[in-house]
Amino acid sequence: MDYKNYVEIVEDWPKDGVQFKDITPLMNNGKAFKSATDEIVTFAREKEIDLVVGPEARGFIIGCPVSYAMEVGFAPVRKEGKLPRDVIKVDYGLEYGQNVLTIHQDAIQPGQRVLITDDLLATGGTIEATIKLVEQLGGIVVGCAFLVELSYLNGSAKLDGYDVLTLIHY
Ligand code: 5GP
Repeated sequence: MDYKNYVEIVEDWPKDGVQFKDITPLMNNGKAFKSATDEIVTFAREKEIDLVVGPEARGFIIGCPVSYAMEVGFAPVRKEGKLPRDVIKVDYGLEYGQNVLTIHQDAIQPGQRVLITDDLLATGGTIEATIKLVEQLGGIVVGCAFLVELSYLNGSAKLDGYDVLTLIHY
């Protein structure tokens, strides 16, 4: 399936000079969303995952159907102040600023095989921070799956040594 047909490119959003890749049309199309999810589930099966971890908010949308299909849990990574119990946190830089990501301290058991999901890989700051959180809790990152990679921002340089699945490249 040519998933690019389901990505809308929005010029100058959220600020001038940024070309935002809107993946909501892909999610809005049942066949395209299922097909993309199935590809990630196949990858997750190969990796024999125990858990899916995704950063807010679109990492949830990609990760939760995979977690359901694999019958494994899902752990959310959220911005500071959003998770109600004890967390660990990490600072990260993203395409349009600086932020802090957190995960519940008891979200991952040491040795669990973790798949990280997000909608899009840009500079790699978000995925790098998410990997740090998973590894600090003793999880093993066995794969990272994205719908979209913006190759010109070179985020994959931060994923050296990790297995990555990306369905759409720009
Ligand atoms: P990075 O941390 O790799 O620079 O940015 C990736 C994060 O920012 C992802 O969580 C993603 O949701 C969001 N993001 C950055 N640029 C875009 C974009 O063009 N389209 C979408 N859908 N998300 C983006």
